[in-house]
Amino acid sequence: MELCIDFGGTEIKLAVIAGGRVRASDAVAVRGDLRDLDAASSAARSLLARAEGDPDAVGIAVPGVVDPATGRMLHANAKYDHLRDLDLSSWSRREFGVPAVVENDARAALIGETSTGSAAGERDAVLVTLGTGIGTAAMIDGTALRGRTGHAGILGGHATVELDGPVCPCGNVGCSEALASAWALHASTGLGMDALFGTAPATGDRDLAVVRERYLHVWGATVVTLVHMYDPAVVILSGGILRAGDAVRNPIEAYVQAHVWPSITAPRFIVPPEPELSVARGLSALALARDARPLEEEK
Ligand SMILES: [Zn+2]
Repeated sequence: MELCIDFGGTEIKLAVIAGGRVRASDAVAVRGDLRDLDAASSAARSLLARAEGDPDAVGIAVPGVVDPATGRMLHANAKYDHLRDLDLSSWSRREFGVPAVVENDARAALIGETSTGSAAGERDAVLVTLGTGIGTAAMIDGTALRGRTGHAGILGGHATVELDGPVCPCGNVGCSEALASAWALHASTGLGMDALFGTAPATGDRDLAVVRERYLHVWGATVVTLVHMYDPAVVILSGGILRAGDAVRNPIEAYVQAHVWPSITAPRFIVPPEPELSVARGLSALALARDARPLEEEK
């Protein structure tokens, strides 16, 4: 069985998966310091006890850039600084007896949805997660893009969409994430995303309606850029904001259809029905693939 640990923006999500099925899952609140590792470890131990087994493989997702050569997180744009440059694979070996495969969370989600999730079998895909920040990932001809140092495909939230926009913590100016994400909304208005896209958004508030339109346009422009760069057959939209369903998906899809390069066939849009499992599915697939590799490849 595979133990999957996803260090998310507000929660650390854990799952034990066996034969493609989730045997047990749990989530613990993020504290924002090294106690997160202890919390993850103790939650994982009780999950494994419930699932009555030891993990054959471990997958860990982080909301930042992972160096493919070392498995260490290089940078996370003002999030999870305490996990930066930690050897999480060795931590996993100490805690659970097996080294972990470590992956960027959006890339893991894309691998999850294209392997056993809502886009199973698709070989050309991009994923956009609208959450605390904006996470993206891209797959071309069945290969999730990583690039020379792990940055390929995952920085779609840091495409410049407004030259005179705010400075992003990443150092760039006018990034889509700095203009339209949960942290950006909280920084500029003190509000949570529920105020814009909750079950009972303040529809009568004209100021909020303007912000909502603006956010949808920023996300639409971000997806147009990703479609132009990666030529996907499917665009997977995920993240907590998609709980608002068609109110988010339809305007983004309409924006993309109106603005995409003329000879590009507009991609199919997918909103995963079980988005909480995307990352765990991807980590399970990655951990199994690593488990199947010959031992001499291990350091
Ligand atoms: Zn940025």
